[in-house]
Amino acid sequence: MAETQEKIIQIAGSITVDELAEALGLSVTALIGELFKQGIMATINQRLDFDTASLIIDELKLENVRLERKNTATKTSNFHRELSEKAVLRPPVVAVMGHVDHGKTTLLDSLLHKKTVEGEAGGITQHISAYQLKHDERLITFLDTPGHEAFAAIRQHGAMLTDIVVIVVAADDGVKPQTIEAIKFAQGANAKIIVAINKIDREGADIPRTMADLAQHGLQPEEWGGDVTMVPISAKRGDNLDKLLDMILLTADIEELKADVEIPAEGLVIESHMEIGKGSVVNLLVTGGELKTGEFVVAGSVYGKIRTMMDFRGKPKGKAAPSTPVTVTGFKELPNFGDRFIEVKDEKTARKQALLNAQAEASETASANVTSSDLLRMMNTADNSKVFNVIIKGDVLGSVTSVVDSLKMIDTKGEISLNIVSSGVGDVTENDVYMAEGDNTVIYGFNVNIPTNIVKLAARDGVEIRNYRVIYELLDDAKQSMEQLLDDEVVEEETGEMKIKGVFRTERTAIIAGGEVLTGRVNAGMFGRVYHEKELIGEVEVDSVQKEKMQVNELVAGETGGIAFKLEKRLVIEIGDRVKFFTRELRKKKL
Ligand code: GDP
Repeated sequence: MAETQEKIIQIAGSITVDELAEALGLSVTALIGELFKQGIMATINQRLDFDTASLIIDELKLENVRLERKNTATKTSNFHRELSEKAVLRPPVVAVMGHVDHGKTTLLDSLLHKKTVEGEAGGITQHISAYQLKHDERLITFLDTPGHEAFAAIRQHGAMLTDIVVIVVAADDGVKPQTIEAIKFAQGANAKIIVAINKIDREGADIPRTMADLAQHGLQPEEWGGDVTMVPISAKRGDNLDKLLDMILLTADIEELKADVEIPAEGLVIESHMEIGKGSVVNLLVTGGELKTGEFVVAGSVYGKIRTMMDFRGKPKGKAAPSTPVTVTGFKELPNFGDRFIEVKDEKTARKQALLNAQAEASETASANVTSSDLLRMMNTADNSKVFNVIIKGDVLGSVTSVVDSLKMIDTKGEISLNIVSSGVGDVTENDVYMAEGDNTVIYGFNVNIPTNIVKLAARDGVEIRNYRVIYELLDDAKQSMEQLLDDEVVEEETGEMKIKGVFRTERTAIIAGGEVLTGRVNAGMFGRVYHEKELIGEVEVDSVQKEKMQVNELVAGETGGIAFKLEKRLVIEIGDRVKFFTRELRKKKL
């Protein structure tokens, strides 16, 4: 029955089981059976992505079949990336990152107050995701982000928007895990790094030690001949903030950051939420062109006409140049955090482009139905059905996306799967509680309210609601909760080795022998592996230890003594054999 001609199957994003079976000339049941063998419970309409389909074809050993990717319209097809000759200088976009409590918020607040609030809009109370300030008559754009994971999410969405990362390190605490994460992020995003060594007003502040610490992590201070600018500051007292801003501008000058303005406006969605009376309120960062009110824009599958536009202080703005953060209304629905937006010429084009993007997204989501990594995971953990279910509620779409994306990035090492039952913007509702009934399900709130009646309902139904304001804490909680669900693992640790010098008594389930401890130690309760020459001949357990005919706790290297071994199986130990001792315990698995 071997076909000689190569068969080519084109896949645009994903293919249904039904379509694949037909293309392969197999019956649907045969294909579903094959998928089942691979640990995938598939239905006839289930979509498989390209890699999964390839794996299945490999498994079926169909050598004369070849899969080809068929290109579909991509979301980014319209975006300008290359700069023209006419590109002009633009303000740098700066993100402030660092370990928790090292002073990011204080720094952002101090800069904001120093440069804007004092002079102008007295009280910015609302959380703002981006702002601009003027230093030496030049603008600098600062991004405030809910956490590093938010950046990871933006990066996942395929955008690089930070030119400079200011890494805040407390001079009395040094480099910490999130400092390292920030360094890695900045390097991964190809951003320039400036270090702000903070809290220099504190008694325990040690600038040279902090620099040495940073140097150990690959950031060589300029003072020491390296290429990383480090500015000692006190975010709280305001010391050296001007110097920090000088350094940011200097770095921007060296980088010659530019953008085209004579192109349709484009940029990124950095936050979005609904407001009563206004509809969608969306924060955008313009990265190219000039955005004006009245223009039509598309962001992913959502489009709109810019109805109102404001700067970060809430002042109306008619036009926004590159690197400017603005708040706009007019999108018909909420665009996603991290999505690119682009200006188009009219409503018809906007609608059409949004629809095309929606279709591309749908085939992406559909293909995400069963991906090859799911498949690999299922193959590896066929007998492991542990699942941790979560429901996510967040204050704004940006935080929900960050939480969801970050949760998905937790490496569960195939030990457990994390299932996001649902996610959305808003307070925790009755419906969320009903959905959470069942094993291993937790509702996570991020910056939301949990009304008292919901707290009561959840308590009655035994549903866990956990509310967080800091993303790392939420992620830590999820990780720990998953660890709790894992089985214990057996951990063995070698403790020492003995050479047998005499065998006193051999019974069916016990042997009493004497010998010299060569390395380490041995005591009752330990296990041992017995080697004759180099061959492993059996396993024993240490029942008791004797030294000079007295029972003792342990024998250590260099000592000679007697041991009563317990046997599981009959075993003959001879003079000259060696016993390698080890402890064996059950430990909670870690992720
Ligand atoms: P974040 O978690 O990095 O945003 O840190 P915060 O900005 O919330 O700061 C954590 C704590 O350190 C707060 O109590 C701040 O008041 C304090 N702090 C921040 N910067 C300084 C500083 O320059 N000097 C001193 N003494 N305390 C600071």
